Amino acid sequence: MTDDINQLGMRTKAVHAGEKPDPDTRAATPNIVMSTTYVVDPDTTFSIEGQSDDPPYVYTRWGNPTVDQLERKLAALEGTEAGIAFGSGMAAITALFLHHLQSGDRLVMSDVSYAGASELAEDLLRGMGVDVVRANMSDLEEVREATTPGTKLVYTETPVNPILRLTDLAAVAEIAHDAGALLAVDSTFASPIGTRPAEFGADFVVHSLTKYISGHGDTVGGAVLGKAEELTRMRSRVVVHTGGILSPFNAWLTMRGIATLPLRMEAHQAGAFEIARFLESHPKVEQVTYPGLPSHPQHGLAALQMSNFSGMLSFRVKDGQHAKTVLAEQLQIWHYAVSLGHHRSLLFYMPTMDMLENSFSLNPAQEEAFRAYAGEGLFRVSVGLEDPADLIRDLEQGLAAI
Ligand SMILES: *Cc1c(COP(=O)(O)O)cnc(C)c1O
Repeated sequence: MTDDINQLGMRTKAVHAGEKPDPDTRAATPNIVMSTTYVVDPDTTFSIEGQSDDPPYVYTRWGNPTVDQLERKLAALEGTEAGIAFGSGMAAITALFLHHLQSGDRLVMSDVSYAGASELAEDLLRGMGVDVVRANMSDLEEVREATTPGTKLVYTETPVNPILRLTDLAAVAEIAHDAGALLAVDSTFASPIGTRPAEFGADFVVHSLTKYISGHGDTVGGAVLGKAEELTRMRSRVVVHTGGILSPFNAWLTMRGIATLPLRMEAHQAGAFEIARFLESHPKVEQVTYPGLPSHPQHGLAALQMSNFSGMLSFRVKDGQHAKTVLAEQLQIWHYAVSLGHHRSLLFYMPTMDMLENSFSLNPAQEEAFRAYAGEGLFRVSVGLEDPADLIRDLEQGLAAI
């Protein structure tokens, strides 16, 4: 394997980065090292604080060879110096917040975010005394106003779950940096095949590995990618002590999934285009949101910032509450289920009232901007890897019954 991984294309990186044949057996596929402990030199210190920059393996919560391989592969795909893998996307987000934010610090966070992250910020961070300010990240004036000098962290998600609104990363990175803040981007919907936020100035990239990156709906995981120095500090300050680490087995499954990520994303995108166009032409469908379509309000930005539009889209019909019951019952191939980004096609109805009551606390202008995408509620759609013609036929018969 060549030393300069950055020169290679995404497909080569997805297959080879971070991995090398086992030195003892020459096994080509990475071994899964399940060992919790390692036989160490008697001088080894028991505290993470006393460890050198490149310490030997001591205990798997501090570091594990299989998880390390995944972290290197993820960093290569995102074009960052380093990465840390976690037991879930939420564990990754939690570690990032705990590393950066203390009582009195300001966090400027996307007003619409993955519901778990949003609720974490509203409940836990506010309770700890963090000054959480929510801003519509597609409105640069609003972001500029919220990001006062001394802000510690700006946190956004693009395209944002579930309304698929985009953040102009280069512009928001500039606003964050001008205020002395760092920018973190949850890029789960785009995957590194769609958008590499570090190329636009983001300091941290967050992923739920559960979704496209592992890609088969059988592994929960998360990651934070960024600069080596910062992540080394995060690992010793937060990760080792809060312990939300990824199992080596799940790291191995995730690496296996990543090998086909670039190919899968091509197929997800091709399928999503067909489904989106079908839905757009369907008389019972009121609105379709897909960044790849010219009808997306930020299609120009999407074309600039995304090299793959991913397989996520949303659509609205007149009476969503009724439609969801019919579709959950009628659909033969689609699964009515939460989560996203794997080979099976999934859809799930998200009522606006529920989201406003439980997950987001939007001001009137933010709520209006939210409703422009979500109306009274939307179906979040994750287009899988089945034949698009079969998916369309299934949707056709489902929609006919509503
Ligand atoms: C699923 C998801 C998360 C949370 O990840 P888990 O692996 O479920 O903890 C965070 N952000 C986005 C955008 C997600 O879709």
